[in-house]
Amino acid sequence: MPHTMRAQRFYSATRTYAVEDVPVPEPGPGEVLVKVEFCGICHSDLSLINGTFPAQLPVVTQGHEASGTVAKLGPDVTGWREGDRVILAAGKPCLDCPNCRRADFSNCLRIRLMAFAYDGGWAEYTVGQAASLTRIPDNVPFEQAAILADAVSTPFGAVVRTGKVAVGESVGVWGVGGIGTHIVQLARLVGAAPIIAIDLNPAVRGRALELGADYAFDSRDEALQDKISEATAGRKLDVAFDAVGLKVTFEQALDSLTVGGRLVGVGMSAETPTIGMTAMFGLSKKQVLGHLGYQNVDIETLANLVSRGRLDLSRSISAVVPLEDIAHGIEMLEKQDGNPIRILVRP
Ligand SMILES: [Zn+2]
Ligand SMILES: [Zn+2]
Repeated sequence: MPHTMRAQRFYSATRTYAVEDVPVPEPGPGEVLVKVEFCGICHSDLSLINGTFPAQLPVVTQGHEASGTVAKLGPDVTGWREGDRVILAAGKPCLDCPNCRRADFSNCLRIRLMAFAYDGGWAEYTVGQAASLTRIPDNVPFEQAAILADAVSTPFGAVVRTGKVAVGESVGVWGVGGIGTHIVQLARLVGAAPIIAIDLNPAVRGRALELGADYAFDSRDEALQDKISEATAGRKLDVAFDAVGLKVTFEQALDSLTVGGRLVGVGMSAETPTIGMTAMFGLSKKQVLGHLGYQNVDIETLANLVSRGRLDLSRSISAVVPLEDIAHGIEMLEKQDGNPIRILVRP
């Protein structure tokens, strides 16, 4: 085992980052050291760098979407062996807040997010809780396994848990990038119909149609609401997912709902949309639902679906960059270079 490793380090005071030599971390009780194979680059990583998300630590290793192999077990860890192929969950409950104390860990009031509250996976090694690991089925590649830890599981949580999409319900998805693409695929998997993808970019709309959307519309189209009405036989949407999180996408998605429809807010920004007149909100019986993340068991469910050929993620990895070129990967995502679904870092 080496004593030092290469790791990306983000400095909050200057909002700059560099790839540096740092000590290989030591797994504590209940923890496991994982040798990282791949780790995704997510918009929320960019949000920490550009200041949209407040920094929680003066310096932190970013990246919260990692796959790898178990390299070392901490004290008291059972059930895992060195060399096991694993996915790390991207967060851990605080175990101390009122919700954690009643064992409602998924609604922890002070959830500790990997790459924000503790060091993440843009490094040769990272530490995770043994209880948060998911075994990767033999026929699932490390690349696809990595993105199960956010880019696919957050959409799963949004579609299955928060949106509770039922067979035959109509669904709209605003923004069909890393998150929205997988919302389209999972909505298809649970039987939504029709599925309408809404995006500015014609190439992205074309891709959404190939991956399971029935219609793809331009959000700038003045006839957008008419087209959504027409596609749903005049009913409009049962469930709208805003994977962008801007004022315009959120309000458009809310406007497109049928009476009693659900808006699921997945994308995040610093913008402040409005729900309009409370009178209309009440009359329309619309529901606005905030969404974050997933439950650990969802990663295993998704790994099983990929392993059994029910969920095809073969198009989801748009590029892989070496850790030393992390700046290039971040820039590609920022500029939407090639309309990436997911860009991975390989330490
Ligand atoms: Zn993320
Ligand atoms: Zn808690």
